[in-house]
Amino acid sequence: MGKQHGKSRFCQAFKPDGGGKCGARPVAGSSYCFFHDPEKSAEREAAQRAGGLRNKLAVLPSTAPDAPLLDARDVVRLLAETINQVRRGEVDPKVANAVGYLGGLLMKALHETEIEKRLAALEAAVKQQPVTPEFILEEDEEHSAEVGKNGNN
Ligand SMILES: [Zn+2]
Repeated sequence: MGKQHGKSRFCQAFKPDGGGKCGARPVAGSSYCFFHDPEKSAEREAAQRAGGLRNKLAVLPSTAPDAPLLDARDVVRLLAETINQVRRGEVDPKVANAVGYLGGLLMKALHETEIEKRLAALEAAVKQQPVTPEFILEEDEEHSAEVGKNGNN
């Protein structure tokens, strides 16, 4: 509705990709939006810095060595380490939550692998046992004796 005293209704800055004018709503008293107003550049940078700091999660440096994760002891060590890193603010609680969750999954998987290993060892041991006819005979005798005794009663 009507002209705004020489100020443009839309940001007059041109898009860097040559796609025409920005077209965003200008800041009050300016022909430019917050992102293009030259007078707002210091404020803008401060806001970007603050946003950057806010969005950055505390994590270990990318050069940190891999934690060994071959057995339950390794997982316990990693979890204990992570707990202390969170307490020192070296690791964001969000990252620590992920470590805790994945650590739990890893513990479960390691446990299942351990059970499978033991089962395989047991099966191998059983297969190596010679099946002797005497053993079967003994068992049969015992069984028939048992039946006979029961029959007498
Ligand atoms: Zn603009």
